[in-house]
Amino acid sequence: MNVYDSERIAAMLEKHGLTQTENVADADIIILNTCAVRAKATDKVYSCLGRIRRAKKESALLGIVGCVARESGSDAFRRIPELNFVLGPQSYHKLPEIIKNPDIKLLNIDLGGLEKFDELPQMEKSPTVAYIPVQEGCNHCCTYCIVPYTRGRELSRPFDDVIADTVNAAKTGAIEICFLGQNVNGYKYTDEKGNLFRLSDLIRETAKLPEILRIRFTSSYPTEMTDDLINIFGTEPKLLPFLNMPIQSGSPRILKKMNRPNDLDAYKTIVQKLKNVRPDIQISSDFIVGFPDETDEDFAETLRIAREIKYINSYSFKYSPRPHTAAAIMPNQISEQIKSVRLQQLDAQLNENQREFNMSCIDKEMICLFEGNDKTGRNLVFRTPYMQQCIVEKPDHEITPLQKIKITDANKSCLHGEIIK
Ligand code: SAH
Repeated sequence: MNVYDSERIAAMLEKHGLTQTENVADADIIILNTCAVRAKATDKVYSCLGRIRRAKKESALLGIVGCVARESGSDAFRRIPELNFVLGPQSYHKLPEIIKNPDIKLLNIDLGGLEKFDELPQMEKSPTVAYIPVQEGCNHCCTYCIVPYTRGRELSRPFDDVIADTVNAAKTGAIEICFLGQNVNGYKYTDEKGNLFRLSDLIRETAKLPEILRIRFTSSYPTEMTDDLINIFGTEPKLLPFLNMPIQSGSPRILKKMNRPNDLDAYKTIVQKLKNVRPDIQISSDFIVGFPDETDEDFAETLRIAREIKYINSYSFKYSPRPHTAAAIMPNQISEQIKSVRLQQLDAQLNENQREFNMSCIDKEMICLFEGNDKTGRNLVFRTPYMQQCIVEKPDHEITPLQKIKITDANKSCLHGEIIK
């Protein structure tokens, strides 16, 4: 989501005649696009601002956009007096105002809904992987999560607007489309004639574009995984056989406290249905360890489900209390020490799953997307359909963006392969 926002911010400023620089001391305007989902991300913003304010030109404009801006509001100006603007995730399209009027302090943390999408410019050149938001906000109110506060209530974008974005992305260089939403599989839009459009309709329509060869979406809420969406994994080959469907915990007791779906059998049924229509599908999850009141038994259930579902490419986090959330004031908060031990144990399990899956790919052929050169410059880096990194020795012939690659070796973190001509 933040990659999308940053790309649009850059495109918007380029329209105003600015160019990008990597060097803080050269910049006329410095923007931190921020994430507030865990306390660490917020803390990083303020330590980074401290460094930037010393390194920047005196005349340079400095500001924050995104969720930390929304969370901090005018308090950000108090903490960092050099700040010129503070714009929330749904008001960063107001950024050009500060260029026109650099003497004001610009504060806008309103939840403007979908208004920003009408103001943002279309990209003239798209990256190979184009991120396309289909909705803003979230209505699920998981008790740990700050997103409903920072990005507001859930709103799905009009079907035609999303398709216009994918068509533009296809025409300007994209090969892969990644649909984005906090609750992406809950996408629902009813047009004036009363026709209902869902995520499966967006996928079907996008798959018709000849330039687009891979489609994926993130992140999914388990109980929004409806049959139309499950079935399209069986019928649409451009849809990658990989799904991020966070479970967060393996303990029904903790899931209930998280206000998450807590019927593990229902979750497993969805996974089974997906496997029935797409036997090669792999599932990824996000996990939170050390949620308030999580016991050793609860955590053991998380380890068990991680092993059972054989999740790959997963993310795991220590629970971080956030302002405006119900869990932050729950009793029996877990100590940092216990959280660290549990995170280590879970990561060991997730790494083992990943290693096993990566090893099982050896000798297989996969169609992979070219991403760029590796650090040494001697190798090329590709992404497999399961989002694994695959490293290939640079060939002496031209390559196409999608290449068939034979996997020759694997370890926990990546694959190695050879291009098949
Ligand atoms: N709706 C998105 C949320 C994005 S946040 C989603 O379902 O993925 C990404 C992940 O961060 C969440 O899935 C969760 O695992 C983690 N997360 C969210 N709030 C957190 C918190 N307070 N502490 C620790 N991890 C958190």
